[in-house]
Amino acid sequence: MTDLRAGVRTTAASERLFAAAQRVLPGGVNSPVRAFRGVGGTPRFISRGEGAYLVDADGNRYLDLVLSWGPLILGHAHPEVLAAIVTAAGRGTTYGAPTELEVRLAERVVDTFPSIEMVRFVSSGTEAAMSVVRLARAATGRRAIVKFDGCYHGHADPLLASAGSGVATLGLPDSPGVTPATVADTLVLPFNDLAAVESLFAARGDEIAAVLVEPVAGNMGVVPPVAGFLPGLRALTRRSGALLVFDEVMTGWRVHPRGAQVLYGIEPDLTCLGKVVGGGLPAAAYGGRRDLMEQIAPAGPVYQAGTLSGNPLAMAAGLATLDVLDRDGVWDRAERWAGRAAEAVSRRAAEAGVPVTVQRVGTMLTPFFSPDPVRDYSGARRTDRAAYNGFFHEMLEAGVYLPPSAFEAAFTSSVHGDAELELLETALAAAWQR
Ligand SMILES: *Cc1c(COP(=O)(O)O)cnc(C)c1O
Repeated sequence: MTDLRAGVRTTAASERLFAAAQRVLPGGVNSPVRAFRGVGGTPRFISRGEGAYLVDADGNRYLDLVLSWGPLILGHAHPEVLAAIVTAAGRGTTYGAPTELEVRLAERVVDTFPSIEMVRFVSSGTEAAMSVVRLARAATGRRAIVKFDGCYHGHADPLLASAGSGVATLGLPDSPGVTPATVADTLVLPFNDLAAVESLFAARGDEIAAVLVEPVAGNMGVVPPVAGFLPGLRALTRRSGALLVFDEVMTGWRVHPRGAQVLYGIEPDLTCLGKVVGGGLPAAAYGGRRDLMEQIAPAGPVYQAGTLSGNPLAMAAGLATLDVLDRDGVWDRAERWAGRAAEAVSRRAAEAGVPVTVQRVGTMLTPFFSPDPVRDYSGARRTDRAAYNGFFHEMLEAGVYLPPSAFEAAFTSSVHGDAELELLETALAAAWQR
């Protein structure tokens, strides 16, 4: 087993690239968490991905537990996914006209999720969530949207809202440039607090177009729904004529071989998908009941379009990924490794006397630096971020690439195996000095 720690890790090339990047890209990146601001230090500039590993510009190799924030459930550069992309690219990269690949991936999605009868492909999870809000408002003739504190649904203006804790409040913009009016109809409640949802519905149920939820929260770290929360949302929305939207951009094919809605046996009205569905290329989707989806243009009046939507390379990558994932044992390998990793982190933390609570659902996990389980965003914010940041840098130095933020999920793949578990154990021992 090669020791990823061997030799002194130099980061000179990453530092040089980061300096150059900061002159021409805001913060040096094209998506904020990549900049390592949460944990400090220089982000590693990546030159290649190979299976379970990343290689940076200085030639350092890291066991990758981020996997592009979820999409790469088969690891980097899986040969069958690559072959599908190369074949598709040889036929041209985009046509702006329909293709058979879109039909095949749509059929695949419809077969995977009992709640989805029709689907529309878009290019990002942001676009999926933004479009679903428009559709829900159009379909119900109502304006208000309920979301949960700490749940992320992309960066569309009406969804960039947070709130004071505990009470139903009008959303406050999370970002300059988002006007109060834009989020005035966004109601933010604490995750896992069904009583808060009940009282909101009692007061304003007939104004609510949709409840959007990450059925397993992943964007505050992994926080599973408490018993009764999702069924409660289903019952309340159904009773009041609001739509229930599961944002499964992260959880789709991650918390279960299909998704959270199958794992927990809840049928939402609409679902957002992304990440795994594009197999590592830019694709996402929203789908659901036929009567709702038929309101989307050109079948219906709700406008939504995209130059590169249903891109043939992305469709081919998504199809190949789902084909491989469906084979016996492939998803199970990713899930089993996640279980072993969670056990290793818990065990080594306990041995070192570090209070860590690992929360895991399927192939997503977060080590919260806290003696207690986390069940909502205020709980996540109470965890020891400084301790996570120290751990992150120790692990990075030992060759394990974790999410550069205490509030993000780690992910596993089907190509993480015994050798990778050994590396993880070695790195944990180094990080916690045993
Ligand atoms: C990643 C994510 C999004 C946003 O997807 P992008 O492709 O980054 O725009 C939306 N919702 C959830 C739950 C996500 O995890």
